[in-house]
This record gives sequence, C-alpha cells and structure tokens, in this order.
Amino acid sequence: MSNSEPNTEKPLDFIRQIVTEDQKTGKHATPVTRFPPEPNGFLHIGHAKSICLNFGIANEFNGRCNMRFDDTNPSKEESAYVKSIQEDVKWLGFSWGDNLFYASDYFEKLYEFALELIRREKAFVCDLSSEEMRAYRGTLTEPGKESPYRNRSVEENLELFQAMKNGDFEEGSHVLRAKIDMASPNLNMRDPVIYRIMKVVHHRTGDKWCIYPMYDYTHCLSDAIEEITHSLCTLEFENHRPLYDWVLDTLETPVHPRQIEFARLNLTYTVMSKRKLMQLVQEGHVSGWNDPRMLTISGLRRRGYSPASIRDFCKEIGIGKKESWIDMGVLENAVRNDLNTTAPRVMGVLDPLKVVITNYPEDKIEEIEARNHPQNPDMGSRMLPFSREIFIERTDFLENAPKKFFRLDIGREVRLRYAYFITCVSVVKDETSGEILELHCTYDPETYGGNAPDGRKVKGTIHWVDARHAVKCEVRLYDRLFEVENPDVDKDVDFKEHLNPDSLTSIKNSLVEPSLADAEPGTCVQFERQGYFCIDSMNSKPGNLVFNRTVSLRDSWAKRKK
Ligand code: ATP
Ligand code: MG
Repeated sequence: MSNSEPNTEKPLDFIRQIVTEDQKTGKHATPVTRFPPEPNGFLHIGHAKSICLNFGIANEFNGRCNMRFDDTNPSKEESAYVKSIQEDVKWLGFSWGDNLFYASDYFEKLYEFALELIRREKAFVCDLSSEEMRAYRGTLTEPGKESPYRNRSVEENLELFQAMKNGDFEEGSHVLRAKIDMASPNLNMRDPVIYRIMKVVHHRTGDKWCIYPMYDYTHCLSDAIEEITHSLCTLEFENHRPLYDWVLDTLETPVHPRQIEFARLNLTYTVMSKRKLMQLVQEGHVSGWNDPRMLTISGLRRRGYSPASIRDFCKEIGIGKKESWIDMGVLENAVRNDLNTTAPRVMGVLDPLKVVITNYPEDKIEEIEARNHPQNPDMGSRMLPFSREIFIERTDFLENAPKKFFRLDIGREVRLRYAYFITCVSVVKDETSGEILELHCTYDPETYGGNAPDGRKVKGTIHWVDARHAVKCEVRLYDRLFEVENPDVDKDVDFKEHLNPDSLTSIKNSLVEPSLADAEPGTCVQFERQGYFCIDSMNSKPGNLVFNRTVSLRDSWAKRKK
C-alpha cells in the first residue's frame, strides 16, 4: 500500500486539494494525519472511511498517519478493543510504523496545560452540580449564566485542582472548566468542562489518575503534541472547531493543526453507532461483534469481504462535505466485483436432491476437468469425480414445469456443468408424504464436455456434486440485518424493532465438491450459480465445514424494491 499514487481517475476531493496546496506552498511538505478511535467497541464500516482517508493521504502524499487511541473515558474502554482495532486497521492494509500513540500517554502533559490555563486565568474549578450547570448553560436562543465560582483566584483554582487530582473530592462535586463566554451563540464555548473526577481504573494508567480530561480538550492538544498537520474529523465536530482553536490559541502551542470536517458514512439497512452495535451484541441479537451480519470490519472479514473490496468501496463513495446516504447495494457490489476476479469457482449444492444415472456403469468413476475461473486460465483447473449417483439442487427440478423452466422435469434434458447432458426419466417419491426422494435420469455418453455431436442444444446448465465424494457442510445464508433503509428514522421506535427476522438461514446438509475438503478457514470461493462463499473462521472445522455466503451473484434487493 505504501507510496501508492494519488487517485487520478476522479478529481481530488476537497481535503486532498487542501493537502496538495499545502504541500505545494511548502506550508506542510510532509502531511501528518491521525486515525483517532476511542477504544470502546469494534470498528465499523464508517471507521473504514476515516481510515482510508487518513492513511490514504499519508501514503499518497509521502506523509505519515499516526494510530492514536483516544482513551480518555476509562469507564467504557478496554484493552480488548485496542487489540481488535489494531488488527482491523492492519487487515485493511495500512501501517502506522512506529507511530502508535495513546491520549493517555499525554495525561501528565495535559495536566500541565490545565495548570497553565488556570495561571492564565482561562480555567476555573466549578462546584456546580451537573444539573445546576445544565440550568446555567442557557439554550440556543438564550445566553447562559456565569457560574458563581467563575472568578476564583488563580491560587484557589490551583489548590482546588490539585485537590481534585489528589482524590480529595467525590465524583461530580467539582470540575475544571475553561473560561470562555457564557453568552456565546455556540454552546460548546459556554465555559465547557475540561476535566472531571472519575474514580475509575484506566486500562493503561491503572489507578494513577482520578481526574480525566474531556474529549474536546484532549483531542486538539494530542494533535498539537503529535504535530498533526490536518486533523480530519466528521461534520458533527464542526461546532467544536472554535473550542479546538481556542484551546490551542490560548495556550499558544507551537503547532496548531487545522481541523477539517467531512461527511460521515451513512449506510442503508444498518446502524452505525458503536453504542447501538454494542446493544445488538449484549442483547444477543447477533452472535458477537464479528457476526457476519454486522457491518463491523471484523464482521465483514468473517463474512468474506476482502480488504481491497472495502478500500474500493471507500474510494468509490469519495469524500464530501454534505451528509448523504449510501445504499447497501454499493458495498455489496464492491465485494461482488472483487470476488468475481479473485474467487475460484467450485460447485456446491445447498439443498441436495439425489439423481441416479441409470445407464451409467455401477462402479465407474470418471475424473472430469473443471476450470477454476471462466475468464482467467492462470487460475488453473481441478479434477471432479463423476459417477452413477450425483446430487443436484432441489430447485433445479420442477414437476409439470412451465415451458420457460430450462432445468429438469420428466422428459427434459439439461447440461451438467463440465460433464454430460442428462434427461430425466422418472421421479421416486415418498409414498405417504409425496416428497421427492430422487430422480432417475439417463445420460448421453457422446456429450462429454457439454456439447452434443449432433448439434442439439440444451438451454439449461446446472451444477452438481458426486454423491460418493461430496463433502457435507453447513451453509449460512445472510440477509440484511434490518428490514428498513433507516432503522433510526423514527426516534419513538426502538431501532431493534426493525431487525429482519430472516437475516440468517442455516442449511445443515449442503454438499460441496471434494476439492474443498481441506480448505482453510477464510477461503473464499464462488459456488457456481449460488454466490460467493467463505469458510467461517470461528465455527468451521475439518470434517465439519461451515460456509458463510458473502453475497449473492446478483443484487436481489434492487429487484425487491421495484
Ligand atoms: P460511533 O459514533 O460509531 O460510536 P465514534 O465517532 O464515536 O463512532 P470514534 O472511535 O470516536 O468513534 O471514531 C474514530 C474516528 O472515526 C473519528 O475520527 C470519527 O470521526 C471517525 N468515524 C466514526 N464514524 C464514522 C463514519 N460513519 N464515517 C466516517 N468516519 C467515521
Ligand atoms: Mg466518538
């Protein structure tokens, strides 16, 4: 990934234009960006957009991108999340080299900066309760009221802040606030809290601290400490930019990064906030953060998405300044396009129906050559066993089928992929239930390879597996996790009301060709006519294969909407 050329197919997005300009003028010859997740959950596809932007710019402009954990809220953060986030970023194909940082590494410096703000009479310790503070804050239309503690002396503030740090006060009894402007039209500027007391053990600093800095205060200073040039964040931080700039200006930091906001990714048929994804996990609506239906990076990986497909998707949607929605179909298409070129073709029968080829010799086993990719001969071929009994897809037979049904019915002929033409002669049914147990067919030995010497044509080609050699497996078919485009649309209805009850269908008795018997977890293939499948990395074992369907061959939702 390193040193890849700037994307030349599309015009540069507005952020890359700024970076280009800054490089040209020499303002920032080496752009430095950062990806700053809070380790309070797993990364999702929205984070991928931010990762591709920050690391992408570093790669394209010969700069650097820091991996920084914004770990200032110990009540929600865990080192397990730190680990998963690092894995996900690496898996996406990006590298931070030695530039791994934690906001918690700066706690000491941030504390010193806070003392400096107090000394400059730009911060004060406030004893108002959180309810009182809210009441004093005012509204969008009314100015706020100044705290009665706002004019404490520097000495008193230094003493109280020290006492906060020493653990002398209870949680919630005191906070440190920036002294800005209670009448500002921007609520973020109305003396925001910059430190609170939290008697909570931190995943990295243990019980060293009982005061923790707030996000807005921490973020700009961490950026300045790391000499970030372009601090890229999503639009909801636009209102926070004045505070970002105020902190750095007031402290006169030698470096003042430029915050630039871009539109976050909104994707249909999913929720994107970690808090909501967490609810799905904790309430058991999914099997975990990496459930293949989750739009987390780990869920997509387990589902069979490649890193390239996710990067392609991010490139395709681009970076803009206006909120917009991307259809889930765009993401699905990205993985379909990628797997179409990379996934070897195999035959797998989801719902098997036995076929006995009555004129085929009882003990004969043929080896039939099958190409691994129809357009790419470099992907080679494999040998498929073929004998008297095979399995086909149950849906490839229909009794009294209409004329346009180009598969099997009594008296109809189809081509078995790579093998022979067969004609259905009779059907064996269970006498009581009427269930179809097997088909009896004959084959034409002259049609090996799929063509008849007499030139007769068949319209249908169906997939199959050899009964004696096929490998039994479980197949999991996924549908979108939510039934509606925007599960969050109605604030009065819980988003979980919109969960799709049919998002997972498990078929236990599917069959795949024997070439897959020893395939490794994570292997991605196309089951001809059925879609792209990936061997599950959690539940699949040799002798007990589990396949996840990554995506069908065509977009079935596009049809449904019409
Ligand atoms: P969530 O709202 O899903 O909980 P977050 O913004 O709280 O996410 P962070 O860990 O703070 O999660 O995010 C790390 C970075 O990823 C931030 O710079 C944030 O702006 C970016 N990011 C988060 N969600 C999206 C999204 N949907 N599209 C683009 N960037 C995103
Ligand atoms: Mg956040």
